[in-house]
Formats: sequence, C-alpha cells, structure tokens
Amino acid sequence: MAQVTEAEVLARLKNIVEPDSGQDIVSLGMVSGLVVKDGNVGFSIEVAPDKGPASEPLRKTAEQAIHEMPGVVSATVVLTAHRAQPQSAPPRAQQAPQQQQEAKPLAPGVKNIVAVASGKGGVGKSTTAVNLALGLAASGLKVGLLDADIYGPSQPRMMGISGKPSSADGKVLEPMENYGIKVMSMGFLVDEETPMIWRGPMVMSALQQMLRDVNWGALDIMIVDMPPGTGDAQLTMAQQVPLAGAVIVSTPQDIALLDARKGLNMFRKVDVPVLGIIENMSYFLCPSCGHQADIFGHGGARDEAERLGIEFLGEIPLHLDIRETSDGGEPIVVTRPDSDHAAAFRAIANRIWEQLDTADGVETRKAPNIVIQ
Ligand code: ADP
Repeated sequence: MAQVTEAEVLARLKNIVEPDSGQDIVSLGMVSGLVVKDGNVGFSIEVAPDKGPASEPLRKTAEQAIHEMPGVVSATVVLTAHRAQPQSAPPRAQQAPQQQQEAKPLAPGVKNIVAVASGKGGVGKSTTAVNLALGLAASGLKVGLLDADIYGPSQPRMMGISGKPSSADGKVLEPMENYGIKVMSMGFLVDEETPMIWRGPMVMSALQQMLRDVNWGALDIMIVDMPPGTGDAQLTMAQQVPLAGAVIVSTPQDIALLDARKGLNMFRKVDVPVLGIIENMSYFLCPSCGHQADIFGHGGARDEAERLGIEFLGEIPLHLDIRETSDGGEPIVVTRPDSDHAAAFRAIANRIWEQLDTADGVETRKAPNIVIQ
C-alpha cells in the first residue's frame, strides 16, 4: 500500500472543525510539528491553555480520522498549550524567557545539557545520541540521556531498558538506568500504541516534567535526543530547555538536501551554540571484506561545516555492527569498546566535552537569549 504523505494528512485535517470557531484546525493554524514517517503520523494540535482538557474530544477525532486513512500505520496526536493566540501572535520566543523565570529550575544538578538533532528522521540521530552518551560515560563523566523524541522514542530499545520508572513520593520519578547512564523517555511512560500523554495532554509540559520532575541528581552532562526535524515543536523545545549546545547529525544526502542546514539555523535562531556536525552513514563499510564504498557521496558534511564555519566533529560509517548493536539494545560503544566504530564515537564525545569544558560560563548557562527575526 502506498504510504501516506504530509499533504494527504493535512488535506484530511482540513475536514476537522474546531467547534468554538466553526473553522477547520488547519486554517486556524492549530496543527504543528507534523511528522510522517513510514506510515506513522504524529503532530500536535495547539490550543489555548485554558482549553486543554476540553479539547480532548477534538484530539481524539483528529487522531481517529488520520488513523483510518489508507497507508497509516499509527497516528499520535497530542495537545499543546504553548501558543497564546493563533496565527498573528508574537513569536513564542518572546514569551519563553518569562515563562522560564517563573518556573522551578529544570534539572538543577545537570551542568551541561546538549541536544542531538537532525534535519529529518532516519539519519541515525538516536544511534549517535546513545553512543555519544556512552562515550562520555567511558571518560568517567556522570551522564544522563533524555529521549525527547516524543513522536518515536527509541532510547528504551537502544539502551536495552524496559519497565516503568518508579516514584517514592508520587511526585518525583526515579530515572531508569543501564550501562551507568540515567535515562528518561516518554517510551517508558506510555505504550507504543497509546497517544503520548503524560500527566495532562501537553507535549511541552511532558518535556519539562522529564527535566524537572525526575531525580536526575548531579550530572556532568545530559544528552537530549531531540525529535527529528526543524518544525515548531523542535524550535519550542530548543528555546525552552537551557541548552549548552547542540550537535547536528546528518547523512551525506541530508547535507545535499540542505536539511542539516535547517537544523543549524534553528539553533542559531534561539542562540544555542552549535558544537559541530557529525556525518553518519558517511560511507559503506562491507562487514565481510572491509571494502569502503562512498555510496552517498562521502565528505559532504565536512565541506558544508567548513563553509558554514562550524566544527566538523567526525564521520561514522554505515555498518551492520552499528545497526545491530543499537537496535538490539547493546550500543557498540559499550559492547564492543575495542572496535573502530566505538573509538570514533568516543573521539567525537571527547571533542564535545572539550568544547563545553573550555567554554566560558557554560556551566551556569541559563535560558538562551532569544533573537527575534
Ligand atoms: P533517527 O534517530 O535519526 O531516526 P536512528 O538512530 O533510529 O535514526 O537510526 C535509524 C536506523 O538506522 C536504525 O535502525 C539504526 O540502527 C540504523 N543506523 C543508524 N546509524 C547507523 C550506522 N552508522 N550504520 C548502520 N546503521 C545505522
């Protein structure tokens, strides 16, 4: 069956009417963060904060309508409450710092939070995030991994963790842990088939709760596995989490299509330093004969990084061992530490840490300054 496209999803959503205004949710600008991947559809419907709970039937209707479309495997729709007024509202960037000042500090014991992002899905962002986290831990740092890919959390599987986090007092959750790394993910809190809802139907509050209401303790660094892409949801996350820096993962094709550049621009917009770019699936390394083939046009990221004045952090080949270990919950950095691939991830992790360690004031970095364009 042909897979559903973004345009088809939007066309279907144009038939979903918001009851108060009588207009459709697409025309009202309520649909954001649409991700369509292998028949899995995810997006958020933005509602005024006071309309959150009352909008649940609207969410359900939209989710069901998409789920029934041919070519749709799963539909995940969440309500978000961060847009104050539709369409003509001032950029949310203006609103974020104030919200942040009022809130309890996010993960106060965490010295550096670093986002791992990508211009689109499927480039190996999660694989890179988990192996970088393990690479940092291998140098003796205290590391946390926050899976913010709410549309398709993969860290429970990649870190080989199942079960649910516990809470001694019913308020603060204990993070899960494996390979010496503390991990939190929406994937622990909801079944794969259920809409991503945790304590109220708000994506942003879910992320903030994963930072604020989890006992992360003292950490040198937290790696955040961002949702793929550069849409509204990603931008909002980038501006609401006090990021010390961001790393962009891209494939050679991704570079060619300028998707990675969108990622760079997104972080620049919210004044988060981009620590560098990693070329994943850079070249194909044949597992049986060791032959190297540049099937995707190896080296594009290095050239692009140079052009943009951003550090090129390194390249990781396309290799069966990397896929099998990450998908099997035994990431290569921890299970085959002597391999060349593990060494490559560790070298990149060290370089990231060096940059953070020498940057002025990173440890005390609070909310980013917001540049309004
Ligand atoms: P993303 O987070 O960007 O969607 P994932 O990390 O989930 O991407 O990777 C997508 C798939 O590609 C997974 O099956 C993963 O194991 C595989 N993969 C990622 N990087 C590599 C690599 N360097 N070599 C081989 N397979 C890889």
